[in-house]
Amino acid sequence: MELTVLGSGSAMPVPDRVQAGYLLDDGDRSLLVDCGSGVLQRLAGTEAGYEGVSTVLLTHHHLDHVAALLPLLKARWLAGEEHLEVVGPAGTKSLVDGLLGVHDYLDGRIDLAVREVSASRSFAAGGFDVTARETRHSMDGFAYRFSPPSSDAPAAEGPLALSGDTEAFAGMARFADGTEVLVHDCSFPDDVDVSNHPRPTSLGESLAGAEIGTLLLSHLYPHTGGREREMERGVREAGFDGEVRTATDGLRLSL
Ligand SMILES: [Zn+2]
Ligand SMILES: [Zn+2]
Repeated sequence: MELTVLGSGSAMPVPDRVQAGYLLDDGDRSLLVDCGSGVLQRLAGTEAGYEGVSTVLLTHHHLDHVAALLPLLKARWLAGEEHLEVVGPAGTKSLVDGLLGVHDYLDGRIDLAVREVSASRSFAAGGFDVTARETRHSMDGFAYRFSPPSSDAPAAEGPLALSGDTEAFAGMARFADGTEVLVHDCSFPDDVDVSNHPRPTSLGESLAGAEIGTLLLSHLYPHTGGREREMERGVREAGFDGEVRTATDGLRLSL
């Protein structure tokens, strides 16, 4: 399966990073995870395109993860696509209902399904097998671990995990243990005082001893600009011993 980083940015815009969005692709199946502002433009540059994505999985409901949800629905409607499924934590249905209440001319334009999932059992989304765990953030949400459609492995042993927005904590390290790639929120450098998001040292400490092939730092605020190597080094010096990279929009990884 392929992971494409569509958006490695956050709620404060920078020119080269749009808000949160990741495309998972396994040949003929595609799954979009999060749909922040700018993600549709990035998606339009992929082989799948917005026409090829009929399922969106949300980590949580902060605006930088959901801003392009109705724009996606509208683009698919205009392109003649007939379905869209939105999957996410509790509250996803009221979020979508609320958005359609404001933009009511879009209601009923395509066959829209909304499904709320929990961390208690794995589920399928866009053909991928997925398991969830609660994050530690200013809003309830999920991290996800994925197994591709072609795999016999359960999601809990899948090769890819995405943290969503979360502080660093040991439970996330256990959740992602054994992955080839963990994409983790690393919003700020160490010298920015912040809660609800990790910084390199707290992230590296939380992941010390975990078996993770590549850690991809993402959800980057403008404060991280030009400090990517320093942040990667900080994660390693704090105890994480896998490969550390910084996400960029358009980055593709094969798993
Ligand atoms: Zn958030
Ligand atoms: Zn966010």
